[in-house]
Amino acid sequence: MLQSKLFSKTTKNSPEGEEARNAQLLIKGGFVFKNSAGIYSFLPLGWKVAQKVMDIIREEMNAIGGQEMFMPALIEKKYMEPTSRWNLDVGFFAKGLRDKEPHFVLGWSHEEVLTAIASKHVHSYKDLPFAAYQIQTKFRNEARAKSGLLRGREFMMKDLYSFHATESDLESYYERAKEAYFKVFERCGLKSFYTLAGGGVFTDKFTHEFQVLSDVGEDTIFLCEECGYAENEEISKLKGGDACPKCSGAIAMKKSIEVGNIFNQGTKYSESLGLYFTDEKGEKHPVIMGAYGIGVSRLMATIVEVHNDEKGILWPESVAPFKVHLVSLGDSGEVTEAASKVYESLVRHFGEFEVLYDERKASAGEKLNDSDLLGIPWRVVVSEKTLAAKKVELKRRSEGESQLVNEEEFFRAVANNVNLKK
Ligand code: ATP
Ligand code: MG
Repeated sequence: MLQSKLFSKTTKNSPEGEEARNAQLLIKGGFVFKNSAGIYSFLPLGWKVAQKVMDIIREEMNAIGGQEMFMPALIEKKYMEPTSRWNLDVGFFAKGLRDKEPHFVLGWSHEEVLTAIASKHVHSYKDLPFAAYQIQTKFRNEARAKSGLLRGREFMMKDLYSFHATESDLESYYERAKEAYFKVFERCGLKSFYTLAGGGVFTDKFTHEFQVLSDVGEDTIFLCEECGYAENEEISKLKGGDACPKCSGAIAMKKSIEVGNIFNQGTKYSESLGLYFTDEKGEKHPVIMGAYGIGVSRLMATIVEVHNDEKGILWPESVAPFKVHLVSLGDSGEVTEAASKVYESLVRHFGEFEVLYDERKASAGEKLNDSDLLGIPWRVVVSEKTLAAKKVELKRRSEGESQLVNEEEFFRAVANNVNLKK
């Protein structure tokens, strides 16, 4: 894609009152637009990243049998009343044309809606187990909306729910979901820690969170630096310096971001909303449920918090908006012609949607700064200097040094993901 055609522009300054690094970089790069506190639009560049993150999540949820679906954002009062979750402060409420009082809440979680749907489709033990998920916008009246996309009032979530006849069946699915979650975060370039936590408004039982270490995180965990065992401060009796209960390694107190969590919800929702099945003997039981969330937009913001430097973002290749950033420096006819040729061959190799070509008439400093800000993993420069050497200049965003290479060396390096550092 030609950079001059991108309708979003980079800016030097981030908006006032936006303290979070993730939002500053995403706004300056033209990935997102801040509409209101905690409410963001995804511009074409940011939407490309979000799509790649969602594709990774989809692949891993499909791999554990998750069936993708899509539920409404407007949730009628009758769904939330049976579980006493209608009137919670977290909700944004809405009225129909003739309603005097709020009659809908904008969906902030979908246990009730899916449980009600399942109750019309599940009757026997033969209908179980199954798991269904959606990737959808959630709305929450969050008090503290200071962390940029880490905590939105409107944000994207993947929520999967699983339905089982027995506790042991749920437990084995829970383990599979846990492994799938580790894969999602690893594929997004993040190391996550499986952390014991409390259940909030979702369950009375213990739950598990996936925490990524970061100083800007709102959570505090006690983490064993030896074996990775972790407990959330909210429920932990550990202190920094204690011995790990699993391996007796040293426990450290760390700030972290909760990118996902998984819950054993038992029969709370199925009993409230009438989701029962009959077993082999014809006896009726409530279905046992699990819930599994990932904050898609929070995940994207976490990637930015973990992978950035003073100049901008360093996208992991798996979620980068483009694989290669081609930059022409100088506007002589020779440079333009040579860069266009490189562009064509890049597009042939990687496809148009993986190559961003900065053919704008702007200074070298401006173009290279923008390139660092956007954080595309590979940068290729065509200039008078590279023309004279009959080569192109290749640089990884994650490395300081660039190299002059010929076209063949270039494609080999990019295809094999080699380090240029010597
Ligand atoms: P938190 O403790 O951070 O408020 P939560 O316990 O309310 O999170 P869930 O309701 O289980 O989270 O939501 C599932 C996932 O959605 C979370 O693990 C998190 O990644 C993400 N998430 C939750 N609230 C927000 C928000 N306001 N903005 C962005 N992502 C969110
Ligand atoms: Mg919350």
